[in-house]
Amino acid sequence: MKIVQRFCQKLFAVAGFVAFSMGSMVQAQSSQTLLVPSALWDGDSSQLTRGHAVIVEGNKIIKIAPVADFSSSKAHRISLDGLTLIPGLIEGHSHILLHPYDETGWNDQVLKESEAERSIRAANHVKAALMAGFTSYRDLGTEGAGYADYGIKQAVQKGVVPGPRLFISSKALVATGSYGPKGFADHVNVPLGAEAADGADLVRVVRDQIGHGADWIKFYADYRWGPNGQAMPSFSLEEMKTMVDTAASSGRLAVAHAATDEGMRRATLAGVRTIEHGDGGSLETFQLMKERGVAWCPTLGAGEAIAEYRGWVRGETPVPARVTEQRDAFKRALKAGVTFCMGSDVGVFDHGDSAWELGLMVEYGLSPLATMKAATSGNADIFNLGNRLGRLKTGYLADIIAVKGNPLEDVTVTEHVHFVMKDGVIYKNEAKQ
Ligand SMILES: [Zn+2]
Repeated sequence: MKIVQRFCQKLFAVAGFVAFSMGSMVQAQSSQTLLVPSALWDGDSSQLTRGHAVIVEGNKIIKIAPVADFSSSKAHRISLDGLTLIPGLIEGHSHILLHPYDETGWNDQVLKESEAERSIRAANHVKAALMAGFTSYRDLGTEGAGYADYGIKQAVQKGVVPGPRLFISSKALVATGSYGPKGFADHVNVPLGAEAADGADLVRVVRDQIGHGADWIKFYADYRWGPNGQAMPSFSLEEMKTMVDTAASSGRLAVAHAATDEGMRRATLAGVRTIEHGDGGSLETFQLMKERGVAWCPTLGAGEAIAEYRGWVRGETPVPARVTEQRDAFKRALKAGVTFCMGSDVGVFDHGDSAWELGLMVEYGLSPLATMKAATSGNADIFNLGNRLGRLKTGYLADIIAVKGNPLEDVTVTEHVHFVMKDGVIYKNEAKQ
């Protein structure tokens, strides 16, 4: 009990709870909690279910049934009147060790901020993410902060700081010469934003990153290193296969950053699970991705945020080329029927604002239902977590949030989350008790 109390005290101190006594926190950990919302969405259905309640014991959902079935239940009852319960949101592409580029540019974050500062910022970031309803984060690279993501993941697991479940990729891999920061004199030794390796050495580096806690192997299939600074492929197909196969041998999946059609094509043939960005993808390549079961994380939020940092004023100044490119790519991906991953590249903009991506996906042409699935059951399935996360279902982990209204009609209701439970522990409840 003491350990549970200390765990709760830490959470209490950091999260700044007002609605919960320590008693109810412990209760959420050790006995049953009955959540009674106005409606719920299970992560799959095309409609909301009304009049049902969810009972949670420990960190699992143990039953979902009509409220009347629980009339004799002794569980601690939490009324969520006017709210819709949905599965905790899963961010498919985050950087907990980055903060918005309009505050500090990427080069300066990598070169001038200490790992200590970046880690402390990351503690704030993961808290903001959880409070915004993101109960899982697939974090795609520390961008020069070494293996700090593993330490932050451990801190979240130990209850030092509240945050989402973290699935991390450590340093990520780039081809020698391709990645930044760049533009320094020869005699200046500049640390990179990722780990450079090539050829047969990729086997060792992938294994080393796994040894340092990487859940995913991320590599940059291309980067802006063309003769005119344009994005061009970096690793060969054979090198990409080496990384994917080495990761697979340990039971891990690979993910590729790719903005060019050829980079995307090679990564798809190599067998990655997801491709990130993909603005240059041709219809043929999106079709190949569909055939090979490779999902696409379009990271629309990052693209639009960077365009805004460069002066784009929505509705006033002309739509920049980068935004037009990602809108066109999205249309081709829709036509090809590719599986959409919900991943915003948050870190480029504020942690806690990832739900922006959902609104953009709908604006770009995906249906609200498909978008909501992408952010919950879809991402869980893509990440091989679909048997325990991303759905409100008996036996699943109790990552449950609540929004006002119907997210299947208006996904932007996810921008204000009123209730957050992760792993059976309540972190936020704005409902009137
Ligand atoms: Zn990224």
